[in-house]
Amino acid sequence: MAGEIYRAFHERSIRDREGFWAEQAGLIHWQKPFGKVLDFGRPPFAKWFVGGETNLCYNAVDRHLATRADQKALVYISTETGEEKAYTYRELAAEVNRMAAVMQSLGVARGDRVLIYMPMIAEAAFAILACARIGAIHSVVFGGFAAGSLATRIDDARPTLMVTSDAGMRAGKAVPYKHLVDESLRLARFPPGKVLMVNRGIDREMQLVPGRDLDYATLRSRHLDAQVPVAWLESNEPSYILYTSGTTGKPKGVQRDVGGYATALAASMKHIYMGNAGETMFTTSDIGWVVGHSYIIYGPLIAGMTTILYEGTPIRPDAGIWWKIVQDHRATVMFSAPTAIRVLKKQDPAFLKKYDVSSLRHLFLAGEPLDEPTHRWIAEALGIPVIDHYWQTETGWPMLSAVPGVEKTPIKYGSPSFPVFGYDLRLFREADASEAGADEKAVVGVVPPLPPGCLATLWGDDERFVKTYFSTFSTRQVYSSFDWGIRDQDGYFFILGRTDDVINVAGHRLGTREIEEAVQAHPNVAEVAVVGVADPLKGQLPVAFAVVKDVSAVASPEARAAHEKEVMATVDRLLGAIARPGRVHFVTALPKTRSGKLLRRSIQALAEGRDPGDLTTIEDPGALEQIKAALGAR
Ligand code: AMP
Repeated sequence: MAGEIYRAFHERSIRDREGFWAEQAGLIHWQKPFGKVLDFGRPPFAKWFVGGETNLCYNAVDRHLATRADQKALVYISTETGEEKAYTYRELAAEVNRMAAVMQSLGVARGDRVLIYMPMIAEAAFAILACARIGAIHSVVFGGFAAGSLATRIDDARPTLMVTSDAGMRAGKAVPYKHLVDESLRLARFPPGKVLMVNRGIDREMQLVPGRDLDYATLRSRHLDAQVPVAWLESNEPSYILYTSGTTGKPKGVQRDVGGYATALAASMKHIYMGNAGETMFTTSDIGWVVGHSYIIYGPLIAGMTTILYEGTPIRPDAGIWWKIVQDHRATVMFSAPTAIRVLKKQDPAFLKKYDVSSLRHLFLAGEPLDEPTHRWIAEALGIPVIDHYWQTETGWPMLSAVPGVEKTPIKYGSPSFPVFGYDLRLFREADASEAGADEKAVVGVVPPLPPGCLATLWGDDERFVKTYFSTFSTRQVYSSFDWGIRDQDGYFFILGRTDDVINVAGHRLGTREIEEAVQAHPNVAEVAVVGVADPLKGQLPVAFAVVKDVSAVASPEARAAHEKEVMATVDRLLGAIARPGRVHFVTALPKTRSGKLLRRSIQALAEGRDPGDLTTIEDPGALEQIKAALGAR
């Protein structure tokens, strides 16, 4: 069982929701106090801190100017370009005001959407905070996504402005953005009228489109002394949209509020991460993911910490780089992902001993299952508690975690511990939504209302929000995480994988449908099945089985290899290399049931060398033989 103190804390957060969250709301600044703590009059929609007015940028930046203007707020480190630059809270405020003034000069107003497609540079943080300041809704798209992904997200959010850059950098290579941006604007039905370019001088061939593409440095120089007033937003106004993949080809725009999010982050910084003002937090994610939003940008800044924005990989110039950063900046809180730790585990362990990391209090990991050997290895190597915690883009902050700021409960390797305060998280039997007992595998669900900080709805689609997340069980309205979980006799939870067809590659969620649609864009592909296959490093890898129209194109091993490359390039072009299948196998039929349903689970089982299960409903057993043959031909 969870420790007594934490159990009581969690129990109160559910029993006395309003009292508990009213207290937590005291951690942030409210320009106008809220009236009702929770309005749950229209379940499952929860409105937190109704009538209260606040602002994320004010809480993250302005609020600290009186006490810590000269403390570092943001340290930008790039091992790709060799740059390192620190911004104090005063300097960060100045940069955010300049960016906000530039955005306003381009016609961005409260409620407008701004699409941010940027590498890990300081200007990305300025743009995010500038949107928050003026009440514009940011939609950050991960820089590894390509033109097709961008276009889908443009059309759903219909931004007024896009903020981007000439290029990102990855492992010493430039990743030019501009041609992808141009292509996405051609593909989109509702492209923004203006594109703000932060030119890093990496892509020297970049061409600006007159009247549409604007150079940020030029505009910034016109607003050096800008003081842009903070837009005080009602707590439930949208702050941002962040797209995530599901089982359909259409990404879901997770919509976040303002006051609930700020409160949840402040509470998590205190109770979970134990990040104090004046200390440093190092989160190794990317601003394109939810972890980047919550724990590179907003969370640590709301807490008055110094946050590190790192562009680079964990192993360049060598596998000691992250520990050097911890040492140099005396980081007390570090947040990373299991895949990164597995990458480091394969390197020389001496790198871990080379630097003084004694400032670290905890290392937090999330995004994908953390296997026990990796958990044990890193915990023993660092000699500090390594906290596996579980959450989703939808929730914005952890759902399962140890909460050391309340009680230091023992860590079990491979377990993200207990339900976090505010979450009435339980395990539900798939058949009838009854509650599972100890050691029984069931669906991880949350009894609504969801706590502050979680998604308010899906952008522009309340119906899809209810249908997707709250309709798993016919008897009971419960938020479904689409993850399987189990709780042991001691009350510790373990996550056992997804209940749907979503793939998790190195902590990044990819929808099988989206990848299938991209593969199918290749002219010689008639049909395709994409499944997630276990991978020792990245957790899972997408693997495609494609039915080709013209079999002569894949008649020889050489032709197959060339064709496979072509299909992969198609995925790269449309979605980005992140979604590229590890392998593309060519077949003439896919295993389906007699009613035409793809036997995805059986394909996945075969690809992982497991028993394909019950095949009595299969239409054409030969199709399965082909899958086996294709896998065997590796
Ligand atoms: P995303 O929204 O992209 O962050 O993906 C969320 C999904 O990642 C969850 O639904 C889980 O399937 C998985 N996940 C996140 N954190 C963990 C964790 N600590 N252990 C196991 N799976 C996790």
